[in-house]
Amino acid sequence: MSSQETTLVVGAGHAGAELVAALRQQQYSGRIILVGDEPQLPYRRPPLSKAYLSGEVDRDSLLIRSAAAYDALQVECLTGVAVRAIDRPGHRVLLDDGRYLEYSKLVLATGGRPRRLADPAADKPNVHYIRTLADIDRLRHDLAFARRLLVIGGGYIGLEAAAVGVKHGLQVTVLEAAPRLLARVAAPEISAFFERAHRARGVDVRTGVSVETFSGTERVESVRLSDGDQLPVDLIIVGVGILPNVELALEAGLEVDNGIVVDSHAQTSVDPDILAIGDCAKHLNGFLCKFVRIESVPSAQEQAKTAAATLCGRFVPHTAVPWFWSDQFNLKLQMVGMSEGYDQLVLRGDPANESFSAFYLRDGVVLSVDAINRPQDFMVAKRLVAERIKVEPHQLADESVPLKSLLSSV
Ligand code: FAD
Repeated sequence: MSSQETTLVVGAGHAGAELVAALRQQQYSGRIILVGDEPQLPYRRPPLSKAYLSGEVDRDSLLIRSAAAYDALQVECLTGVAVRAIDRPGHRVLLDDGRYLEYSKLVLATGGRPRRLADPAADKPNVHYIRTLADIDRLRHDLAFARRLLVIGGGYIGLEAAAVGVKHGLQVTVLEAAPRLLARVAAPEISAFFERAHRARGVDVRTGVSVETFSGTERVESVRLSDGDQLPVDLIIVGVGILPNVELALEAGLEVDNGIVVDSHAQTSVDPDILAIGDCAKHLNGFLCKFVRIESVPSAQEQAKTAAATLCGRFVPHTAVPWFWSDQFNLKLQMVGMSEGYDQLVLRGDPANESFSAFYLRDGVVLSVDAINRPQDFMVAKRLVAERIKVEPHQLADESVPLKSLLSSV
């Protein structure tokens, strides 16, 4: 590789920050430029709906690394500036301040943005979305003056925000349009557990219900629900998923299908000089044997390592096992694998004690695991899933059988 080579990374989030460090770790000697449209250096998003929203940690603790650390890595960081367009034949990008930057290799790490409510009546200052530090700074200000919080969306981010609302002494309602919480990602037993846990801590959980109308002039003051109920509100937090930021890729003629399509080396199908990683990428995952777009920090980090290897000329296919976590109240949920296609769910421990693990099996093979307040189970679960271990369900359920002993039951 020539030292004149330039890797340009668009998007200074988790994936971009991990990539630039991984490149240097893998001895990349070219120039590295990291361009991000947010004013800050890359920071951790998970605390935004948890400890940062509740005021337990300060902004500085969110930074993934300091400015000095980027200097030491010889990474040029351009913050507060967006890439507007990619000129593929010219191997350059146009910035929104009118400058052009040339690249040898381009990595799109543009993340996603919250899916917004379609109703224009919901476009009011007390309706909040959670993605960036700026979003949370606005929200925290409103949280201090609110009494009634309505959370729209019973996914992880909505439930985490609801937990923070309760902690602040607010009267919290969670609305989920599907018949149960976490319907897309968890078994009915896990949904029921979280519903009970939230109710027990004072959250008014309503499933199978959506907002019909938003009322209010300056701010939304009340909502009418699809079941006819009318709820007064001071503050609304919307957590109904994200849309991947794919517009640059689309305009550049790259393949997009609910994400920028890349192979198991993070390269786009149309242009091998352009890669994509993180929330914006629909990547071929060798472990799952399919194309997936995964929204999680571990996935962003693993994809970044794969891309770094590719950029260093070592083609190592991406085979990472997906995992994720969520913190709500004193409940730490850790998940590994993908449960799609499971035919049996085995519980280890009693949900009533708020410490148990749920194993999703297909033909006795562990596909995925949800561990609630069970970090030790989770450590073993990661191996059970990664090694596709076949287990005896009754042994999994029996707490007198050490989980570790099942690792050898291949
Ligand atoms: P991002 O971190 O979103 O970074 C993309 C960056 O690119 C952004 O700064 C964006 O503004 C910028 N950008 C976009 N377009 C351009 C452009 N044209 N020019 C310049 N810059 C651009 N994951 C977990 O594993 N566990 C959790 O508990 C968890 N909690 C979360 C809580 C919240 C509130 C949120 C929002 C996310 C959470 N996640 C969690 C998900 C995790 O944060 C994401 O999966 C991760 O941030 C993805 O990293 P990324 O780099 O792909 O995208």
